[in-house]
Amino acid sequence: MPDQTNKKYVIVTGGVISGLGKGIVAASLGLLLKAKGYAVTIQKLDPYLNVDPGTMSPFQHGEVYVLDDGAETDLDLGHYERFTGIEMGRDNNTTAGQIYWEVIEKERRGDYLGSTVQVIPHVTDQIQKHITALEKKNEELEIIITEIGGTVGDIESLPFLEAVRQFQQERGPENVIIVHVTLIPYVHASAEMKTKPTQHSVMRMREIGLQPDILVCRTEFTLTRDTREKLALFCNVKTERVIQGLDAKTIYEVPLFLNRERLSEIVLSRLGMEDRPAELTYLRKFVNHIANPASTVTIGIAGKYVQLVDAYKSIIESFAHAGVDNDCKVEIRWIDAEQNEAAHNIDVELEGLDGILIPGGFGYRGIEGKIRAAQYARENGVPFLGICLGLQVAVIDFARHVIGLEQANSTEFEEKTPFPVIHLMPSQEHVKTKGATMRLGAYDCVVRQGTKSFIAYGKTEISERHRHRYEVNNDYREQLESHGMLISGTSPDDSLVEMIELKDHPWFVATQAHPELKSRIDRTHPLFREFVRAAVKYHEGRGK
Ligand code: GLN
Repeated sequence: MPDQTNKKYVIVTGGVISGLGKGIVAASLGLLLKAKGYAVTIQKLDPYLNVDPGTMSPFQHGEVYVLDDGAETDLDLGHYERFTGIEMGRDNNTTAGQIYWEVIEKERRGDYLGSTVQVIPHVTDQIQKHITALEKKNEELEIIITEIGGTVGDIESLPFLEAVRQFQQERGPENVIIVHVTLIPYVHASAEMKTKPTQHSVMRMREIGLQPDILVCRTEFTLTRDTREKLALFCNVKTERVIQGLDAKTIYEVPLFLNRERLSEIVLSRLGMEDRPAELTYLRKFVNHIANPASTVTIGIAGKYVQLVDAYKSIIESFAHAGVDNDCKVEIRWIDAEQNEAAHNIDVELEGLDGILIPGGFGYRGIEGKIRAAQYARENGVPFLGICLGLQVAVIDFARHVIGLEQANSTEFEEKTPFPVIHLMPSQEHVKTKGATMRLGAYDCVVRQGTKSFIAYGKTEISERHRHRYEVNNDYREQLESHGMLISGTSPDDSLVEMIELKDHPWFVATQAHPELKSRIDRTHPLFREFVRAAVKYHEGRGK
């Protein structure tokens, strides 16, 4: 049995409203503790009843973040990985749906034979099993940060908070501490910061037996000494543990802000651990670059979920990383491919761009607009990056307009197309259910030497994360290649097309994978880095 007594837990809860950036706080704390040399990981417990977010609409929930092991997880896992560079796995995200599913399975199996199955203790026990799953897998871990989704006071999050209470009882308050992220609204009419919502949210926690150790107060303006003291008094937290979480210009500034407020130092002291200097030079440089870019390029993202930018979170962040690498600001122009399906409409939207990206997506809506966007990039020499569906529409455009297979399509959009250049993988043909049934997670790819893809990656063997059902139809490979499309990456056994590019184009690359899921603050994804480099070059060329 691994020794559990030396594992330390930081539980992150949220109060007052959702969308306070609890995930960024958890990710920032992870970054700071790692910078101090601690072995840390971050976990998210989500109170909704979906077994995973894979079946939720991106309009509702934002992007589905896929891990190497194929888990479809909450987008906060993306922040965790981007900030800390630590690889996460299935156990780093649990939902209430998963917990209940497991409890009901056990009940049916007869594991609880004789008892009445209840939220307390059966559901709360199962939650605790998930909380401790990571320490069981990795004995090296010293600190586990556990973010509880939702807001204190929600019906759904109650079993999770009760599980935390029991867990804290069992492990001791010196091993399990609570960081409560809350809101301090500013009322302009009376020019006052209001502490009451936070007081109430902490009251709700204390009613169920939880006392926050640290408050991270999200605020538009600097917290005054008076406000800090008032919060300390009413919330039963020491004044120095009232931390200011000031609005930041970029999320990458948040760890620096929180470090100035001594967040990780306080966490370590509460856990009885030694404080150490944090190596944050690279982050300071990174933030500085974001604040002072040498130039600006505009990249168009032609997608379907453009009203909710959370749906493309990882892409946006990958551009932030790539901008730093290329010393430029990447401005994004959102193009609603569905509203602008007609070529003459979308062309207007595409004009003046330095690069075009077509992201992943599902379903027919907006497809014709996306095909036209790929065609526009191809014909006008505009740098292009196609991601998953983006590769598929680039192949459809090429088949239709270069090879001349006019009605070429994907069988996802037109089952009876005479030219199914994109089709269902044989392994997917019999799948009937929708949850977790795609080609998911990390797959190897062999990159062909002498291609732009190879220049980007700098090696032939790569691995990328996937989330899709459809593939390039191998029957059309020869035709695509003989007309000037390069198949620049394939699965190691050559049975699947992984990457394509165009020979006679400054930079037109597409991948069946999701490179945006592998970009980190200190390791920009090479495809984004090269794409933005091409966009800068294109921009400069146009200026002449
Ligand atoms: N709908 C396409 C497929 O399932 C593309 C998926 C994606 O872009 N992630 O293959």
